[in-house]
Amino acid sequence: MNMASVKKVQNHMDGQWVDSTGTEIEAVPNPATGEIIAVVPLSAKADVDRAVEVAQRAYHTWSEVPVPNRARYLYKYLQLLQEQKEKLAQIITMENGKTLKDARGEVQRGIEAVELATTTPNLMMGDALPSIAEGIDGTIWRYPLGVVAGITPFNFPMMIPLWMFPLAIACGNTFVLKASERTPILAGELVELFYEAGFPKGVLNLVHGGKEVVNSLLEHPEVQAISFVGSEPVARHVYQTGTAHGKRVQALAGAKNHALVMPDCHLEKTVQGVVGAAFGSSGQRCMACSVVAVVDEIADSFMDALVAETRKLQVGDGRLEQHFVGPVIREVHKDRVLRYIDSGVEEGATLLVDGRQVETDASGYFVGATIFDNVTPQMKIWQDEIFAPVLSVVRVKNLEEGIELTNQSRFANGAVIYTSSGKHVQHFREKIDAGLIGVNVNVPAPMAFFSFAGNKASFYGDLGTNGKDGVQFYTRKKVVTERWF
Ligand code: NAD
Repeated sequence: MNMASVKKVQNHMDGQWVDSTGTEIEAVPNPATGEIIAVVPLSAKADVDRAVEVAQRAYHTWSEVPVPNRARYLYKYLQLLQEQKEKLAQIITMENGKTLKDARGEVQRGIEAVELATTTPNLMMGDALPSIAEGIDGTIWRYPLGVVAGITPFNFPMMIPLWMFPLAIACGNTFVLKASERTPILAGELVELFYEAGFPKGVLNLVHGGKEVVNSLLEHPEVQAISFVGSEPVARHVYQTGTAHGKRVQALAGAKNHALVMPDCHLEKTVQGVVGAAFGSSGQRCMACSVVAVVDEIADSFMDALVAETRKLQVGDGRLEQHFVGPVIREVHKDRVLRYIDSGVEEGATLLVDGRQVETDASGYFVGATIFDNVTPQMKIWQDEIFAPVLSVVRVKNLEEGIELTNQSRFANGAVIYTSSGKHVQHFREKIDAGLIGVNVNVPAPMAFFSFAGNKASFYGDLGTNGKDGVQFYTRKKVVTERWF
């Protein structure tokens, strides 16, 4: 492959674009066409050392900037992001493949995370209790940590970095971002606009690369905390290595999200919800619905409607409005997905809609919407995160069996119930093991003022991203007990 004519993305340190010192590079294709749109450097430990040094230096002055003034920089950033919404969505579609409609939704969710960060003067406030004993007051004060690093996945190139650095920086930290090497272009745009908003240099730094960059950050003595979002094995590694090096770590991991369909649901809206959640963004969402447990009584009519709706979905380049299912991220990922579909057939599930052969541009990495019926928890397609538009359906006798089955998953990110019964909802909420629960909503991703994290193998850490958890994660406390004579 001739990559000489393709733009090589750069790192950003101390307010400037700089070349990586790493010798390896990786091509970044548009997943819808296979065309190489950029080249990303796999940076070296020396690049990380420099970025952390710069961030550490900037921390001394940035942490002294009054909290409302820090928030004011973010108002300007927010305005620039709003102005560039369409451009940002177009970049997401080009490098990630998701449809423009999905990309626009992601841009909006990213902007909401920045909105949250602008409220830091409120969120960072401590607590006070006068007169905890005679003449003694107690107070809690919040302070930044120092240099924080963020490591992000390919599937939300805008929203997930924006879950991290605006809030961390508003809390007075400085930041080193290691964006996904599969979607590096949008990360560069976020940094460009950040400095256009007037932030002092060195507050946000960007180092492109893969595991060498990640491991250097995990081991660096000056990095105080790590925010990670990505697949389960890497999240576990990041949590174990980061904490072993004395860091605070939040590691949001993989998922296998379940929906439970009750006989008293609104059938049409339930089918629409499941189709959107399973096949939107080509199933490459950590909150994608990948298993449906449907109660026998409604199973046949639900399946007929689900299959009919799914067959209408068009697959292809996400820039064209008629396409609902875009490509998956890489050719190797597509091959992995096809092997999972083969395995479902071999293990005896009923393949109702087969996405292996799709009529679309052959140079892109397309897999069509796929539905298996009669899946069991023993099958790999039930157990593993496939991260693609592949939906497994399990038939269950009742609510109890549906919950019991869902709770067998090693993941526990999101779970949704479709029903018109408050009693069912109450029971589901109490018994289901999931960090993010939905009731008659397709993707139960909360707004940024709520915290976000799963349970079990979907999350390693204590404090999730966003909301009050996010502020707690990016700050340390001092508790003062004082008496004056
Ligand atoms: P990934 O784990 O492959 O990559 C995530 C980050 O880790 C990237 O920056 C990558 O460079 C780095 N990385 C990859 N392999 C590494 C290794 N061996 N050592 C050190 N670092 C490594 O994830 P992805 O494929 O980019 O993203 C999809 C995954 O992210 C899915 O599993 C999805 O469920 C998960 N995800 C979870 C959430 C959540 O909120 N729980 C949100 C979005 C995505």
